[in-house]
Amino acid sequence: MNALERLHKTSIRATDVAAQYWCERQMELNYTKGPKITAEIRKGRMMHEAMEQEVNVPILLQPKSYSDSVYKSLYTSYMALKQLPSNGRAREIQVYGSVNGYRIVGKIDELSAKDGMVTIYEDKTKANDNLPSEPQMLSHKVQVLLYRKLVGDIKDKLYTYQNFSRIYGINRLAMTDEFKRQLDALGIEPELQSIDTVAKEFFNEFSGIKELSNTLCIRYINQFTGKEIKLYKFEYSQDEADQILTFSMKYWNGQRDALPVPFEEKWKCNYCVFFGKECKKWWPQKNL
Ligand code: SF4
Repeated sequence: MNALERLHKTSIRATDVAAQYWCERQMELNYTKGPKITAEIRKGRMMHEAMEQEVNVPILLQPKSYSDSVYKSLYTSYMALKQLPSNGRAREIQVYGSVNGYRIVGKIDELSAKDGMVTIYEDKTKANDNLPSEPQMLSHKVQVLLYRKLVGDIKDKLYTYQNFSRIYGINRLAMTDEFKRQLDALGIEPELQSIDTVAKEFFNEFSGIKELSNTLCIRYINQFTGKEIKLYKFEYSQDEADQILTFSMKYWNGQRDALPVPFEEKWKCNYCVFFGKECKKWWPQKNL
């Protein structure tokens, strides 16, 4: 049984791969023992929502089923992408792809269009003004590298509407009547009121964006003051993205169990909610 089956998941999130680079065992425990949503995570989410509303026209849709949610993700991302050339920015863009036959999904915080180039930005909120540690930055860097690969694959038509439609069984998805009423109420054109059509438009718009920059950006923001603490820029490398995915996939396809942090990184356990309970790898009293 591979890890996806064990964790009752159908897709790997870009944030899962990033979390593997912090502690793979912790990432798995978050699924098996329930996600630990801290006040800090909640505050970070609120800031992301506020930033999205600054850029995108808010689209008030309340999905009632999985199919409704797929439509909402595609439609809101399509609308934001369509407005990218005039707005100069698009936020919260859903991205899909495939690696070794596994579905990969993610949500890009921001695409910025300037001087004929499109740059990917990831926003990370912090509870104070301290600079992020190297290990924290590594995990964030992995996430953005993966986004760049997924967007590059869509742009180069290596991952297309046809791939998406087949893998997600789009033709079999049916939206609820209640959700369709919401689409009517919002005045969405009838021809755009199907998952199939909106998926085509989404991939069409995405593959047509301007040249993709190899410079990737992570913005660290104080979640209380909104102040930018640091803008970290680095260059995309296809080899690096491939190495990350090779390492990551060995876990997902069941070639190895979830790895705990190595001895030299056991300081991370002090910040882990599973330390001494579900995970005793480096717990001093583990033999008592
Ligand atoms: S206690 Fe340490 S090794 Fe175990 S899951 Fe947490 S961070 Fe990973």
